[in-house]
Amino acid sequence: TALVEVRNLVKTYGEGEAETRVLKGLDLDLETGELAALLGPSGSGKSTLLTILGTLMRPTSGSHRMLGEDLTTASDRDLTEFRNRHIGFVFQFHHLLPDFTALENVIFPAAVEAGRETREARERGRELLVRVGLEHRMDYLATKLSGGQKQRVAIARALMNQPELVLADEPTGNLDRESAMQVMDLIGEINGREKTTFLISTHDEKIAEICRRQICVVDGRAEMGRERA
Ligand code: ADP
Ligand code: ADP
Repeated sequence: TALVEVRNLVKTYGEGEAETRVLKGLDLDLETGELAALLGPSGSGKSTLLTILGTLMRPTSGSHRMLGEDLTTASDRDLTEFRNRHIGFVFQFHHLLPDFTALENVIFPAAVEAGRETREARERGRELLVRVGLEHRMDYLATKLSGGQKQRVAIARALMNQPELVLADEPTGNLDRESAMQVMDLIGEINGREKTTFLISTHDEKIAEICRRQICVVDGRAEMGRERA
């Protein structure tokens, strides 16, 4: 079965005359190990879909399953636990804590979950920063890093709890071309090595082409691009 299985997903915002129906019966499967781009014009509902897939917002109706669990009927508390264990997030703006170092930013989610900063978490944080090419920046404050470096720290942070799925909303939207390509290379490498599934929203055709699959949100539904080898 698929890692993520979405059926007939509907999301409306507002009520009465102000009601906007953004997702209109969207179906989507994501298999383990996929590297998929999420395309669509501004306002088409990409962020809405990512937010629902990330269990940060509930759909108006439809079903959303991941790892075989029905997430539409799960309690808020179960959703929080599920999210912390299985889903990582990368945003357009890195959302790093400015007064903390690269390493502290990476281990923060694990420290929150464990209620303290463990030695294992520090070790894993260090390994992740090595893997994203920032071994020489571990103890730099987040504000001292370049844009591309910040986004690589954000990727390391997203991987901290070994999620099966990473959702990235315009992760390269704020980067120059060279840094954007470095970030995509890194995502491709992690995807290839660890079978972590990535869904990456982007406006950028060049970024989308790097992904093995393209999914387009059109009129509230998902249209699948052709699968490439
Ligand atoms: P995209 O990420 O593709 O640009 P979004 O999911 O951000 O699209 O937005 C889809 C539509 O939903 C837009 O018309 C947007 O204005 C509307 N929308 C998004 N969030 C809200 C909200 N919290 N309340 C009302 N309308 C919203
Ligand atoms: P990368 O390609 O590794 O993302 P860049 O090429 O953007 O990094 O930056 C090159 C160098 O400039 C890096 O060593 C980085 O630390 C430094 N740098 C970039 N922006 C800043 C900044 N705002 N403050 C301090 N150093 C910076």
